[in-house]
Amino acid sequence: MGKFSQTKDSNLEGTSPLQGNQKDERTKLWKIRSGEIDTQDLQGLEPKEVLPPGSELDWPTWKTLNRLRSYTGRCAANLIRWGYPCVSDQCSCGQTQTMDHLLACPILDSPCTSEDLATRTDTAILHARYWIKI
Ligand SMILES: [Zn+2]
Repeated sequence: MGKFSQTKDSNLEGTSPLQGNQKDERTKLWKIRSGEIDTQDLQGLEPKEVLPPGSELDWPTWKTLNRLRSYTGRCAANLIRWGYPCVSDQCSCGQTQTMDHLLACPILDSPCTSEDLATRTDTAILHARYWIKI
């Protein structure tokens, strides 16, 4: 057997030739698959091969903005769910600190919406910078 021989379970069996160019086909697959995934919301972001607004920001703010957009961050509720030893799932405001809560925490003057995150408004930047350690 040579180094590049195909096995019986080759992953090439389920493939088909591309109909268009790679970029268009990849974008088409993202759109199709984003409809299959049970997500809460696409946060107003359209699948495409460009960075969402905010990539010009400093790295910590950009990272946090994307964590807020994807509901995947180190909020207290997630840390407990992931098995990290935490004292509490409470935010300093007294409510359960979920990713949703980070957008509506009363500590910050105004709530941050999905639209704010998608378009990178000043409110989105304010929230990202406040929750920079999330
Ligand atoms: Zn809070």
